[in-house]
Amino acid sequence: MIRHQDLDDPKTREVIVIGGGIAGLSAAIYLGRAQRDTLVIDSGHSMAKWEPTVENYLGFADGVAGEQLLKNGRRQAKRHEVVFANDEIKSVSSGKSHFVLKGKNKTYRTKRLLLATGIFHLPPEIPGVKECLGHSMFFCKDCDGYRVRGKRIAIIGANNEAIEYALGMLHYSACVIVATNGKKPRWDKRHAEWLAEYEIPIERRPIRDVEHRRRKIRALDFADGSCLKIDYLFTTRGDIFHNRLAKKLGAKLDSEGEITVDQCMRTSVPRLYAAGCVTPANCQMIIAAGQGAAAAQAINRDLFEESLATHSLQRFREAQLADEKTIPECTDKVSGRRSRRK
Ligand SMILES: Cc1cc2nc3c(=O)[nH]c(=O)nc-3n(C[C@H](O)[C@H](O)[C@H](O)COP(=O)(O)OP(=O)(O)OC[C@H]3O[C@@H](n4cnc5c(N)ncnc54)[C@H](O)[C@@H]3O)c2cc1C
Repeated sequence: MIRHQDLDDPKTREVIVIGGGIAGLSAAIYLGRAQRDTLVIDSGHSMAKWEPTVENYLGFADGVAGEQLLKNGRRQAKRHEVVFANDEIKSVSSGKSHFVLKGKNKTYRTKRLLLATGIFHLPPEIPGVKECLGHSMFFCKDCDGYRVRGKRIAIIGANNEAIEYALGMLHYSACVIVATNGKKPRWDKRHAEWLAEYEIPIERRPIRDVEHRRRKIRALDFADGSCLKIDYLFTTRGDIFHNRLAKKLGAKLDSEGEITVDQCMRTSVPRLYAAGCVTPANCQMIIAAGQGAAAAQAINRDLFEESLATHSLQRFREAQLADEKTIPECTDKVSGRRSRRK
C-alpha cells in the first residue's frame, strides 16, 4: 500500500510529538491510525509514573498503575506504526514549512509539532516527603481525595490556595489541618475568616521531617522535637510548566506559564499544537488523553487540507492509480462468475 511518507521528503516527518506521556501517547494512537508518519520523542519522565493506582480513569474499575497505562499506550501506538525515540529535545526552530528540533542524541525535522511536555508538581522541601510521593503525599484533590476519606490530613501551604484546599478536603474528612511549615501566612482576610468559620486548625511550627514507614506517612516531626500524627499530606507549592520550547517558538503563554491553545489544541504559532498538563486544562490523565486525541484530529485535518492546497494529494492519487487496484471487483450474482470492471 502506498503511504504519504513514501512520496514526501524522507528527512521530514509529517508529525513529531514531543512527550510520550498520557497526552502524547493518545495523540500518537490517533495519528498512527490516521496513517500519519509520526515520531514520538520522549525523555521518560511522565508524571503518570508517580501514581501506583489510578482510580479515576475510565474503563479500569479496579484501578491501573500509571506506569502500566503508559506501557499499554506505547504498545497500542506501535501497533499503528508510530515510531518512538528516547531523546530530550533541547532546542527548536521554525522554518518556512517545518520545524527543526535539536535533541541530546539527534536532530529532527517535522511539518507539524505537538508539544505534550507536561509539568512538574513541586513537592515541599521537607525531608522524607519524596519517598511518599503518590503513596501518601499527594497534589490533587480530584485524583486522591476519595482515597483518603476519613483520614488525618495535613495541607502544607501558607497561601489562599492552601486554605481553599483544606476547605475542599472537608468533603472527604473531618480531620484536616493547614501546616505552614514555619512560613508567614499569606492568605487574605476573607480566607482567614473561612478558617475561623470552619474551625480548621493551623499548625505554624517549622517541620523538621516527615516520619514514614514503607512510604506511608505516620507523623509530622517539628523542629521543637514534638510531633503530630497524620496519615496523608497534600501540597499546593506550585508547578513548573515544561514550556521552554513553546517560548522559544514565540507561542503565547498565560500568566502561569501554560501554553495557550484553542479548542483544537492549536497554539498561537502556525503548525504548532500543545496538549495535556502543559496547557491550561485541569491536570488529569483522562483530560490529557482527550486533548491528545483532539490535537491529533486537528493535525490530521490540517495536513489533509495542506495536501489539497499543495496538490500533494494528487501525487498520492496518481501513485495509487498507477500501482494499486482502485476499483472494487464486481461479482456476477447469478453465475457467481467474477467480472472485472475497468
Ligand atoms: C503523584 C501524582 C499522582 C497522580 N495521580 C493521578 C490520578 O490518579 N489520576 C489522574 O487523572 N491524574 C493523576 N496525576 C496527574 C497525571 O499524571 C497527569 O495528568 C498526566 O500524566 C499528564 O499527562 P501529560 O501527557 O500532559 O504529561 P506527562 O504524562 O507528565 O508526560 C510528559 C512527557 O513529556 C516528556 N518531555 C518533557 N519535555 C521533554 C523534552 N524536551 N524532550 C522530550 N520529552 C520531554 C516527559 O519526559 C514526559 O514523559 C497524578 C500526578 C502525580 C504527580
